[in-house]
Amino acid sequence: MKVIKFGGSSVENPNNIQLVFQIIQGQLQKSELVVVFSAFGGVTEQLFALANLAKSGDLGYYKTALLALEQRHLDMANALLGNEKREKVDTFIRQRFHELEDLYHGIFLIKEQSPRTLDYVASFGERLSTFILAEALAAQGIPTCFVDAREIIRTDDRFGQARVDEATTHAQIQDYFAKQEGVKVVTGFIASTIKGETTTLGRSGSDYTAAILASALNAEVLEIWTDVSGVLTCDPKMVYAAFTIPQLSYAEAMELSHFGAKVIFPATMQPAMKKNIPIQIKNTFEPSHPGTLINGQVREGGWIKGISSRSNLTLMTLQSAGWMAAGGSLGRIFTVLSEARLSSLLISQASSQHSICLALATEEAILAKELIEQEFFYEIKSGEMDPVSLVPGLALVAVVGENMKHDPGTSGRMFRALGQNNINVAAIAQGSSELNISAIIPQADLQKALNALHEVFFLSEHKVVHLFLVGTGLIGTELLRMIAQQKEKLLLENQLDIQVHGIANSRYMAFDEDGFDLTNLPQLGPSKSKMDLNAFVETIEEMNFSNSVLVDCTASQEVAQIYPRILGAKIAIVTPNKKANSGSLESYLALKQLAKSRGVHFLYETNVAAGLPVINTIHDLMLSGDRVHRIEAVLSGSLNFIFSELEKGLPFSEVVVLAKERGYTEPDPREDLSGLDVARKVVILGREAEQKLEVEDIVVHSLVPEEARQGLSVQEFLEVLKKQDAAYTELLATAKAKGEKLRFMATLEEGKAEIRLRSLPASHPFYGLEGSDNMILLTTDRYYDRPMIIRGPGAGAEVTAAGVFADVIRVGNYTRD
Ligand code: ADP
Ligand code: ASP
Ligand code: MG
Repeated sequence: MKVIKFGGSSVENPNNIQLVFQIIQGQLQKSELVVVFSAFGGVTEQLFALANLAKSGDLGYYKTALLALEQRHLDMANALLGNEKREKVDTFIRQRFHELEDLYHGIFLIKEQSPRTLDYVASFGERLSTFILAEALAAQGIPTCFVDAREIIRTDDRFGQARVDEATTHAQIQDYFAKQEGVKVVTGFIASTIKGETTTLGRSGSDYTAAILASALNAEVLEIWTDVSGVLTCDPKMVYAAFTIPQLSYAEAMELSHFGAKVIFPATMQPAMKKNIPIQIKNTFEPSHPGTLINGQVREGGWIKGISSRSNLTLMTLQSAGWMAAGGSLGRIFTVLSEARLSSLLISQASSQHSICLALATEEAILAKELIEQEFFYEIKSGEMDPVSLVPGLALVAVVGENMKHDPGTSGRMFRALGQNNINVAAIAQGSSELNISAIIPQADLQKALNALHEVFFLSEHKVVHLFLVGTGLIGTELLRMIAQQKEKLLLENQLDIQVHGIANSRYMAFDEDGFDLTNLPQLGPSKSKMDLNAFVETIEEMNFSNSVLVDCTASQEVAQIYPRILGAKIAIVTPNKKANSGSLESYLALKQLAKSRGVHFLYETNVAAGLPVINTIHDLMLSGDRVHRIEAVLSGSLNFIFSELEKGLPFSEVVVLAKERGYTEPDPREDLSGLDVARKVVILGREAEQKLEVEDIVVHSLVPEEARQGLSVQEFLEVLKKQDAAYTELLATAKAKGEKLRFMATLEEGKAEIRLRSLPASHPFYGLEGSDNMILLTTDRYYDRPMIIRGPGAGAEVTAAGVFADVIRVGNYTRD
């Protein structure tokens, strides 16, 4: 014999119920069945909400809502039953709603709702659903017997969470079942006291009802049918990557559910465990999925089985100088709490601080504080004990697994993951059975914590980088294209998943919490939100993913100014934007320090020479103990192009126009010709080589004539430039005569930097540079006689985007646990 239970989500609407009926029909072929139903999805919640409305005196509103609820039940009956049964069922429904109306009216009049009344109110949900469903099954040709569980399950009068009198209940069930014919269709959740008062077993308690029946009837299996495929490694509503745990021990399932995995009610495991009845959790919407088996086995391997959480907690701290001396204080605290039926989810005591803290449901915390302050009235008055303090806004995360006692590293991994994600832990506890480790954290960080822990314990082979891009110009767009193209391969071969959640240009921004479909990105236009940098950052912070990265593909000073806030929030930065690193030395050092102290990456390989490995090379040399003596570099693709073209015989001013037309220069070519851009790059290289440099310290011999530096439009400047043509022609002729070439190069030696146009002999490595290539020469302790040369295309959207992409991948790979 089997006991099968269907939860509220499985019986939410007629379509779902048809699936339920198919499952029941299928099972009946193979085995004798007892069926337990919850209230129709959401009904219990509504019954409580109506009680609140009645209590607060909102007469008109609760009556309308009550009518709607009655109609929902009538509609359900209508959809499930043929005409001949309708009258009986409709009458049943109407009578129940009459009773409910009286009940609510009572609440409305006395403006009070006791736990006793609320249990009675809530009982209507299961009584209605189960009656309708029993009749509907009968109409399908299955002989059924509707069982109101109040007739068979006996409890104490702890309303709202009644405790079952097992012996009496078992006897009543056996007796009742022996006498009645047909497939028993039983109301979940509800029971009664010896005086016949209605009680409930606690929210979500229908699972428990089913377990009690299974135990009393010695069922061979208990099946819980719900809307997910078993117990998952984490709540799938919080962690998209959660997956089904094929098997759990009773103790593990109990622990997971106690700490919030609401897919199964904690008390369910106990009756099943006593009789060694396996529990199978199945998905009504995917019946072929095997789901989760809960039984007495503790399987080898997999230290951690699941992660669960409880929301809306408050931490209560009790502190006393003489705490330890005052024997019996702990006993008094727990007596007070248990008498008021308040329970704490976590207790942590630090003897050195003479304090104890307890995590309680927020709605119970104020009462707990009052009661404890009453109990310790004299101690508080005399100053021997501090007033009780409360910190709300917290949540609990727990990692659960029977085997973790064999793995000393579990807590280390757990707290490292929380720390790496900037999640502050307010209290910690590990059960002495070593079945779980729990931590109290800010409620706002809960989803991030669950995802981070899930990644560490279940997906350590698989890393997710959550990317937010500002700047969708040539480089940004190319980057998105590259990520889309490589996504599959990175996932398969590198176990790295790059998800893009935000994109913005200077005017608009768009977000997708689940990650954009990169093959079909949204157009940034008036249908999207207006770009607001502050709101952009706030959204990243709100999404609160573990392992987020901001990619700044702008050249904006404004964006660079928010880096401290980004790094401070433990969000990595990858950028080709030079503004932050070429600002003051002080802010550069502060950023590097911040990234280091927060343990996040700040990567900017593309600040200099696009994707060429310059920054990382210098960085690695320094790390390995080398010392940079001299850096010589040609870092301006535009100027290289100009001087290569000049050799073909065109006048200087015309070559500049040509370079501008071909897009090799900035819109105002003076930015290139002035050498300022090169100066910024040199500063960054120098700083990477641990030299204390400011842009102002660099001697730059600008190629922009004095008179054209200010006040002229680009057009006027190009006119003025013609006056230089003769000088350049001569310079070139002199160089040619000596067998030399003109190069605009930077030299940095022992902290001094100069940027100027030079005439270089054929023996110089820069002599052979072509087109817009960059070249960097590093003379170091180790590369002294023959300097290291890095050469290649140093500009262009494609090579820059590729460099940015490589940095993003680095963020993903470095953060692997
Ligand atoms: P029912 O109505 O069938 O009783 P519940 O809503 O009570 O269903 O429980 C199922 C829900 O439990 C799932 O939809 C899921 O959001 C939530 N849940 C929380 N933690 C877990 C977990 N670890 N595994 C599966 N589901 C979980
Ligand atoms: N209907 C009850 C509730 O919502 C019991 C259950 O669904 O298990 O809490
Ligand atoms: Mg449930």
